[in-house]
Amino acid sequence: MSAPRPAIFLDRDGTINVDSGYVSRPEEVVLLEGAAAAIARLNAAQVAVVVVTNQSGIGRGRYTEADYQAVTRRLAELLAAKGAKVDASYHCPHGPEDGCECRKPGTLLHRRAAAELGLDLARSWFIGDRLRDVEPAAALGGHGILVPRSTTPGADVVAASDRFVVATTLDAAVTRALEGLRAPLTPPRTDD
Ligand SMILES: [Mg+2]
Ligand SMILES: [Zn+2]
Repeated sequence: MSAPRPAIFLDRDGTINVDSGYVSRPEEVVLLEGAAAAIARLNAAQVAVVVVTNQSGIGRGRYTEADYQAVTRRLAELLAAKGAKVDASYHCPHGPEDGCECRKPGTLLHRRAAAELGLDLARSWFIGDRLRDVEPAAALGGHGILVPRSTTPGADVVAASDRFVVATTLDAAVTRALEGLRAPLTPPRTDD
């Protein structure tokens, strides 16, 4: 097997498509301006693009797993129409009170993706519109970029400013991540 490669982990709602609250029907999927172009840049750079999304609406009974899959297909269609592609999508169907390990900021889905796709989490970038999207970067040794939107809590922006990168658009975040991926690797630390 080839050496593990870095990935860009993207949140879905509010990061790729408009977060209208529990997006659960194909017709509700509306791409954010510039999102497809930003993802296409990652595709061109041959960086794995992995979506990790909290879908507590499934656990809350607001929509079904099949609804989620239909939205996933619609998003792929809209991206494909603009020459962009998500390589893999992972979702947590649980609610916050379920105590699962897959709901972000939990890292189970990122670790599963790493095992299944051969990813190097410590060289990966974690991008989203909430602090919980970027916090896995700290837990997994990677890099986080918050892309705040009008719906992002101010406290998320304040907290992210201390520990992560904050970018104004997904495109700016992608530029930053691609710069980081091109930078030479830091030599391994020798603790002795
Ligand atoms: Mg979001
Ligand atoms: Zn979960």
